[in-house]
Amino acid sequence: MRVICQKTIRKAMADYPTHIEIEPRVHLIRGANDARFPEANTLLIDDEILTLVDAGSSPDQVSSTLRDLGHKPEDLDRIVLTHYHADHKGYAAYFRRISNCEVLCHPLAKNGVESFKVMMKFIGIDNPEAKSHWLNLLQARLPHVQNDYIVDGTFRDDKPIDCGEIQLIPLHSPGHTHDHTCFGINGLEKILLVDIDLTEFGPWYGNVVSDLGDFKKAIQQIIDLQPKMGISSHLLDPVTKDLEEQLRWYLAFFQKRDKEILQHIAAGSDTVKELAKIPIIYPRIPHPAYLVFEELMLDKHIELLSKSNLVIVEDGHLQVLRA
Ligand SMILES: [Zn+2]
Repeated sequence: MRVICQKTIRKAMADYPTHIEIEPRVHLIRGANDARFPEANTLLIDDEILTLVDAGSSPDQVSSTLRDLGHKPEDLDRIVLTHYHADHKGYAAYFRRISNCEVLCHPLAKNGVESFKVMMKFIGIDNPEAKSHWLNLLQARLPHVQNDYIVDGTFRDDKPIDCGEIQLIPLHSPGHTHDHTCFGINGLEKILLVDIDLTEFGPWYGNVVSDLGDFKKAIQQIIDLQPKMGISSHLLDPVTKDLEEQLRWYLAFFQKRDKEILQHIAAGSDTVKELAKIPIIYPRIPHPAYLVFEELMLDKHIELLSKSNLVIVEDGHLQVLRA
């Protein structure tokens, strides 16, 4: 018992600096708990227009960073959101309340950020049992996102967001979600990759508005831009070493998962429900809500596998045509 308590205390006191400088005026505010869901990193642009990109790090991390740089949370001018997800819009409503800053997002994100009900629709959990699991998880880990938000405006894909010295260049990169947007920081050498997050888990596309084909294209487009630095929303450090290799490794997850799915179907797990129980995409199902996401992601693989004539569905059962 004592050991567990000490561990908890150690975890609470983050053993890494809260923020690091990416370049003058640009700071990465690291999420608590190694920036793992439901935390996420936040970018602070300490410029003429004091701007946050996302607001998913715990308010303590954001406020202490602002204080370290000579500001107060009340000084914030603007929050730019990368997509509607709860771990990214996070505390935007809270910071808007205390600073009266404007909140901007992609036009496709607007309804999902503003309305809890639309967010649930974008996520796509409609069966009542799954919905109650998801609401329990939100209540336990993201209680602050259950209200509606105010969005003051939207940014355009073709127009940089001017912060003063720093220009944020929107790179609409759908797939993870339909509204998912990466940002170039004063050019395209340094890119905020958001949830092309380069984590060990691999790509996540468990919402109805996620699209597997778009996700692959988005990763390839980032590779083609040949950035020198990629900033993930869920890794503590920006990736500079072997970035292209890491993006290719991340892209390879789709094919790896296809292969595993085909193997398991051939071995007799011939429905999405059976495949989800293994599970294939999550290493394990830590909470019943995740089973829905596992099934949604598997559905997307099956759809593409059957389009490529690798799998057929007959009487609700899957069959491998060619492996
Ligand atoms: Zn996300």
